[in-house]
Amino acid sequence: MRERVGGEERMTDDVELDGSQGEGGGQILRTGLALSLITGRPLVLNHIRAKRPKPGLMRQHLTCVQAAAQVGGAQVSGAELGSRTLRFEPGPVRPGEYRFAVGSAGSCMLVLQTVLWPLLLADGPSTLHLSGGTHNPMAPSFSFLQRVLPALLAQTGGQVTLTLLRHGFYPAGGGEVRVDITPAAGGLRPFSLMQRGALREQYAECLHAAIPRDVATRELTALGQHLSWGTPADQPDQLRNRGLRTNEGPGNALMVTLAHEQITEVFVSYGQRGVTAEQVARTVAQEVRAYLACSAPVGPHLADQLMLPLALAGAGEYRCTELTEHSRTNAQVISQFLPVDWRLAAHPDGGWRVGCGG
Ligand code: ATP
Repeated sequence: MRERVGGEERMTDDVELDGSQGEGGGQILRTGLALSLITGRPLVLNHIRAKRPKPGLMRQHLTCVQAAAQVGGAQVSGAELGSRTLRFEPGPVRPGEYRFAVGSAGSCMLVLQTVLWPLLLADGPSTLHLSGGTHNPMAPSFSFLQRVLPALLAQTGGQVTLTLLRHGFYPAGGGEVRVDITPAAGGLRPFSLMQRGALREQYAECLHAAIPRDVATRELTALGQHLSWGTPADQPDQLRNRGLRTNEGPGNALMVTLAHEQITEVFVSYGQRGVTAEQVARTVAQEVRAYLACSAPVGPHLADQLMLPLALAGAGEYRCTELTEHSRTNAQVISQFLPVDWRLAAHPDGGWRVGCGG
């Protein structure tokens, strides 16, 4: 970008992102903040979340900006609720102990998504105390990140331990999570996730707090039928009924975990007023079936989340079941910061291959 400074025109290192590109949601903000911290380049973001019914920064997004600003000692303008423009000038990333509270049921796991990779590339360990929603629709759940990240970090280097202290569901929130981060010495290494490997374990869990107990039984019964896993009474280890403390609710999440040798994937659907237990089961069963219908290891949500570590490693590849608009937008945003040679192509065995570098 060119800027007039003292009557002279000169190049600045700013990266100007259009928040209405592609998916046009909060992920453009989070990827932009993460890469601004990592590269040290100032971020100017316009038209924030332009394609959402309520555009601009919501509480959860504002917490992401504040978290990134603390971690990078950044100068920020436009960090207000509803703001559609942001300027973020980072300093060096400072590892350490931080507390970030969303202050609503907004997902605190999306705050983690913002600062995780910058802290994994920092020059010392960090501990985060996060509060807000831990199991939210349209966001990675605590359980997803806790189970999915280890296989990836085993390849890229670095270590992340996630500890759940309290669940947080919409609309009450109040979840609490501790995250211990040990950086990847010498930067992230390239990774390859092209196969699932043998199936190690598959199970479902119905988390429920302060909702009628028969809802859990109905969800697990319907899910057992959809996946041909039997009944919760006969298969309690595979169809797990996990009642939580009532003060962690009200809330209900129906999750399916498929753990393969090289990847663990987690699928979830949430109970809500006006949606029957059977519909909740059908929704998650459809996602599981779509995943099982393809042999690719990486599901649609993880696919967009792996683009950042792939680009930061500078080389590597993975195969995913779908290439969503979120993924395509993320690739586009990352390319505005880093010279990534993306290779996105349909894979002969189904799904897509996402690669970059040599
Ligand atoms: P908005 O869309 O309102 O701007 P947002 O900030 O939540 O909200 P999105 O741009 O929609 O932003 O990004 C959501 C992120 O959550 C994506 O990275 C997506 O992969 C992830 N995600 C959504 N659902 C799931 C799920 N079921 N499991 C794992 N990750 C998920």
